Amino acid sequence: MEKRKYGLFIGGDWVEAESGETFFSAFPATGEVVAELAKAGKADVDKAVKAARAAFEEGKWPKLSATERGRLLRKVAQGIQDRLEEFARLETLDTGKPIRDSLRIDIPMVVDVFDYYGGLADKIMGETIPVPGNFLDFTLREPVGVAGLIVPWNYPLFLASWKIAPALAAGCTVVVKPASLTPQTVLELANVMNEVGVPPGVYNVITGPGSEVGAALVEHPGVDKVALTGETQTGKLVMEMASKGVKNISLELGGKSPNIVFEDASMDEAVRGALFGIFMNQGEVCCAGSRLLLQESIKEEFLGKLVEMARGIRLGHPLERETQFGPLVSQEQLEKVEGYVESGLEEGAQLLTGGKRPQGEAFSKGFYYEPTVFSEVKPHMKIAQEEIFGPVLSVITFKDEKEAISIANDTIYGLAAGIWTRDVKRAFRVAKAIKAGNIWINTYNMLPPQAPFGGYKMSGIGRELGIHVISLYTEVKNIMVYLGKGGVKWFG
Ligand code: NAD
Repeated sequence: MEKRKYGLFIGGDWVEAESGETFFSAFPATGEVVAELAKAGKADVDKAVKAARAAFEEGKWPKLSATERGRLLRKVAQGIQDRLEEFARLETLDTGKPIRDSLRIDIPMVVDVFDYYGGLADKIMGETIPVPGNFLDFTLREPVGVAGLIVPWNYPLFLASWKIAPALAAGCTVVVKPASLTPQTVLELANVMNEVGVPPGVYNVITGPGSEVGAALVEHPGVDKVALTGETQTGKLVMEMASKGVKNISLELGGKSPNIVFEDASMDEAVRGALFGIFMNQGEVCCAGSRLLLQESIKEEFLGKLVEMARGIRLGHPLERETQFGPLVSQEQLEKVEGYVESGLEEGAQLLTGGKRPQGEAFSKGFYYEPTVFSEVKPHMKIAQEEIFGPVLSVITFKDEKEAISIANDTIYGLAAGIWTRDVKRAFRVAKAIKAGNIWINTYNMLPPQAPFGGYKMSGIGRELGIHVISLYTEVKNIMVYLGKGGVKWFG
């Protein structure tokens, strides 16, 4: 298997870590090493932030027009598109996700995100505000400065693009910290940035442990804005650290999203939607529909179909095009999922399918786990309350709409929800009653760059994607001009 070596990308150049130390990332299907990475420390973070600061204050970047920045972002989109196969392969080697997902979903969506923000760059504007008196009042939207962007391992480049593209469109410069398990695509993007002429220091990447490198980035006084996608626990730590510098922060955190199926739903569409909602990307999805709320009257028929389809999902080697379901990202993640399955059994949930590692030589070296469905789950159980971040579906039944809403909202999270019904009035009623940032009606897991995404409650702060994210990377400056005669006569 091929193995790449990456340094840190600072100020437009590839450099070694000051310590000279490295670490490795491995292919989750076999455990083989696929990349050797530079292990950054505090001194490297400082270098990267200084490069980003210099590029923000003095380099070519602040002199470029928004139109030129937008054009560069569209060139980045094209650069990734031109190397679609290469990026998709790197993403699969790091994460273990099936190549058909990387090729058809992850990387094409990254291209769309850069395209979208390329188009948006010169449409970021302020307002003219009608204030009383003889004044002209207007606002400017100015870039917030140097942005520290910390991203997770489940959609490495896609989730990074949600931050990088709007930050650059707004005129910020960035230092990105990818997850240690999956850094290759965020690093490889640096080569595209150089190829298309993004000025040095605008895009920087540092790799290393989150608790050291991520924390040093959050705490660095040269960083004006911190954006994290990760666990809610990490979000709390980052908030605490960022509070010392009163930094602008945005957080995309965990979820335990309800996918609610009413008895009048189209049965086949809802079964496929439930399956896609939980098992896409091996369940390693922040907005996964991990709680299936099912109306009692359709339980038997629905679960019969769902379990049959879950058993038909093709597990296999991630690089084979027919594979629909790969290994989990790491041994640690596999053990976490196993722990939750044990707890489900202990608390009295009924295992309908899965609940174990698949057998056979093909799976012996990877972190594989079967698509798993539990029924008879009660809302207080751990598998109904905690984010598993793996292929485990907890099925809870409800009698009527009121009960469905109450169970749906019985969570610390509020990232997403699905509603399956043919009754349009009910769909809107329930959508309004659920405390979550993203509601899908008769669909699930749709994430176009035009529509905002983010969480209520402990699922986060702020909205990414769409035009909404621009507020996370800009400051509003109000400017007031006196147009009258005589000025202020307060003191005579
Ligand atoms: P994680 O919180 O362990 O790590 C995320 C990133 O934060 C990594 O780059 C990590 O190195 C870094 N990090 C860890 N500790 C840090 C610290 N003390 N200071 C600064 N940085 C630190 O999350 P993960 O395991 O990589 O990803 C899975 C989690 O991410 C799940 O909870 C999932 O729901 C969440 N997620 C949320 C969204 C969303 O959009 N809401 C999307 C994907 C994943």
